[in-house]
Amino acid sequence: MFDSDHKPTNEGSIDVKRRVFLASAAAAIGGLVFWQWRKPAPLAAAHAASTELKEVTVVLFSDSGQRLKQVRIAKVVKTEEEWRKQLSGNAFDITRHADTEIAFSGKYWNLHDKGIYRCICCDNALFDSATKFESGTGWPSFWAPIAAENVTEIRDTTFGMTRTAVACTECDAHLGHVFDDGPEPTHLRYCMNSASLRFVKQG
Ligand SMILES: [Zn+2]
Repeated sequence: MFDSDHKPTNEGSIDVKRRVFLASAAAAIGGLVFWQWRKPAPLAAAHAASTELKEVTVVLFSDSGQRLKQVRIAKVVKTEEEWRKQLSGNAFDITRHADTEIAFSGKYWNLHDKGIYRCICCDNALFDSATKFESGTGWPSFWAPIAAENVTEIRDTTFGMTRTAVACTECDAHLGHVFDDGPEPTHLRYCMNSASLRFVKQG
């Protein structure tokens, strides 16, 4: 409640504005310093790791799921901007920044059609519907990749858990995680994000 006696003078008001400005400028600079200090380290490390190995071994598959041949090919390396242009926001966050889609929200958890699942980023063949099973988790789940060479498993200690992350060998896209509570014959459960995959229906 302001009465005339407590109304700030013009001078006081300018002083307050100036202090507010200085405080927000300091916060902005502080934020910028924090951002600069925080961001590049893991990104630089990930970039170094992905460019160290320029060639990878993968197995090629036809769209009908036929195993063609093992090849040694150049790894797909693109900039953040290039991936952002190519992918939907959701697929970008998941594949390039290891995000996870909300359970039961993706388009493949409940898909039962015959076909293969390719990488949304580079088209590398990743899973065959023949190994897909009902996990009840709300994420598409498989008991094996289409070829061991085509996926790479990485120790993941984020969120205070030790898990095994699964990435595309050809382009490093984050796909999901693998757990050892799956069904026969492997007892593995490849818990994938629908957004990391592109289904190719067997015609
Ligand atoms: Zn890929």
